[in-house]
Amino acid sequence: MEKENYQKETLYIHKGYSSINHHDSLAVPLYQTSTFAFETAEQGASRFAGEETGGIYSRLGNPTVKVLEERMAALEYGEGALAFGSGMAAVSAILVHLTKTGDHILCTRGIYGCTFGFLNILKQKYNISHDFSTLATEEEIEAAIKPNTVCIYIETPINPTMEMVDIGLITRVAKKHGIQVVVDNTFSSPYLQNPLELGANFVLHSATKYINGHGDVIAGILVGKKKEEIETIRMSVQKDYGGIISPFDAWLLIRGLKTMHVRMDRHTKNAADLFSFLQTCSMVENIYYPFDENNPQFEIAKKQMKAGGGLISFTVQGGMKNAQKLMNTLNLIKIAVSLGDAETLIQHPSTMTHSVVPEKERLEMGITDGLLRLSVGLENSTDLIEDLQQAFSNL
Ligand SMILES: *Cc1c(COP(=O)(O)O)cnc(C)c1O
Repeated sequence: MEKENYQKETLYIHKGYSSINHHDSLAVPLYQTSTFAFETAEQGASRFAGEETGGIYSRLGNPTVKVLEERMAALEYGEGALAFGSGMAAVSAILVHLTKTGDHILCTRGIYGCTFGFLNILKQKYNISHDFSTLATEEEIEAAIKPNTVCIYIETPINPTMEMVDIGLITRVAKKHGIQVVVDNTFSSPYLQNPLELGANFVLHSATKYINGHGDVIAGILVGKKKEEIETIRMSVQKDYGGIISPFDAWLLIRGLKTMHVRMDRHTKNAADLFSFLQTCSMVENIYYPFDENNPQFEIAKKQMKAGGGLISFTVQGGMKNAQKLMNTLNLIKIAVSLGDAETLIQHPSTMTHSVVPEKERLEMGITDGLLRLSVGLENSTDLIEDLQQAFSNL
């Protein structure tokens, strides 16, 4: 690659790799190795001293992983990226990096269940507190910020009710207070939303989802606005906590990324088709979809997302009984948590992903027993609609 300013779709395929340095291999080679052999004792010494670049040991860096990291940094408009063994390893690494005992983290009202679990570990073991807020207006954000707030942690759209927060508004207020903003961008993928462009300091992904896109890897990515800070995390929290990605999983993510834009366009189209269909179903009470023109939050969605994405939640009349019956009657659509795969998946948040959230809080978040979440896949949407249609007709 000679030019630096290629369009995104081109970067998904080429960024960070030149076949000249790899025996002319078109595909990025898989360096499945734990360590690297030095030619001499002196060479080893100078690599450890940082005087010479090159491999040392795969927990500190690996050529296959490096391609993935450079590609992800470019796709999220950051200066550097780190790949992890899971989305949660990325979440815990950035929160450990940004906080110390006595600090406070401000969060959006709904966050991923295990992120919630990690915040509780920080609170119980290290006295690092957190609060949740809707962060909907400047006044609300100002009121929620405490003197010891060091980080605002955002998810948008929020799982599973697709509530949105205005990333630009939050980063503007945070900057005034010198507070760093971290965005979990898993639901949108780098193709639909780029938080660093909206002023965030860090963006992270469960790469398990849309980045891999094929349902066969658990991985995480952290991208930072500043190269230096990412390198600090690499040689401290990542190296010493050790939550790195395996070269093989990095290789699969590189393969997945090549089709990211094509997949996201189809996920979005299929989800829009299903959204239209669900609007015609008499058994459906509410539908939650970011690009619903009748939702007042559509304005926020349009401002920060390129398209609506592949996730839709809806509530079925008749609560838990009908929700479970609908799931059990589906043939093509699979019952599974996770998202972003080629297969369309359906799950029941109140008994699955959000079963650990106390009922009162769950209901406040809009997660009723009749709520279902669809991760719309890449199948022909007519087949998906027919599958839903026959399941609804059995209720
Ligand atoms: C899945 C997910 C995570 C956790 O990622 P893992 O790869 O499962 O560790 C974090 N945030 C969101 C929004 C997710 O969907």
